[in-house]
Amino acid sequence: MTTRMGRRQLLALAGRGLGSAVVLSVMGGLRPAVARAAGDPLPAVLPPLPYAYEALEPFIDTQTMMLHHTRHHAALVTGLNNALSPYPELQAQSLGDMLANLDDLPAAIRTAVRNNGGGHMNHSIFWATMAPSGAGGGGEPVGALATAITVQFGSAGYLKSLINAAGASRFGSGWTWLACDSAGKLYVYSTPNQDSTYMSGHTSLLGIDVWEHAYYLRYNNRRADYLNAWWNVVNWSAVNARYETALR
Ligand code: MN
Repeated sequence: MTTRMGRRQLLALAGRGLGSAVVLSVMGGLRPAVARAAGDPLPAVLPPLPYAYEALEPFIDTQTMMLHHTRHHAALVTGLNNALSPYPELQAQSLGDMLANLDDLPAAIRTAVRNNGGGHMNHSIFWATMAPSGAGGGGEPVGALATAITVQFGSAGYLKSLINAAGASRFGSGWTWLACDSAGKLYVYSTPNQDSTYMSGHTSLLGIDVWEHAYYLRYNNRRADYLNAWWNVVNWSAVNARYETALR
């Protein structure tokens, strides 16, 4: 318990930015080590999309992109900041560290941070790991991630089928993920609602939003069609960059 307090104080001293990462590294082993993640820093801000709302057509339609970003994600940002506003000392943490250690949060805001903070991080990663088809989107995995996929799954095609199956079998709302641990081992699984892979001590590499708001306007109830189409806009370069960062 005293080591936790000590670490918390160190984190507060280190503040935002590189200092926290250094402290996390020095103090490593007490908690899951979580790389600084999309969604940081706090207070949260809605990240601008790195492409136009219509850029992912026809695989993801313009209206869905606009509503998803300006309404759904924006509401999560507001919800997270509202939850944290009475606790300014918590805002020195990384959101990834917070999600990895939800039990350390005040009980009054634990669920709000899990839902809104998880959602903010999940969506921030989602936007950053897509690109227009043929202009950064689609194709095959690259870099160290491509090697790891071949070693662990045999082929990118098989990996995609596992991610799609996990997303298709999620009852209700959630996400389907490719995640990794600090040793670089890859995992495929689905989380319910806005739960984050950081809650399992993992780093999210690639996630597909399978809430109906992510696909219903174009695909109606055909979630499997949306999942198949999504791979036309996956930004493997960005996903590999997340993997290489997680390994450092
Ligand atoms: Mn969503």
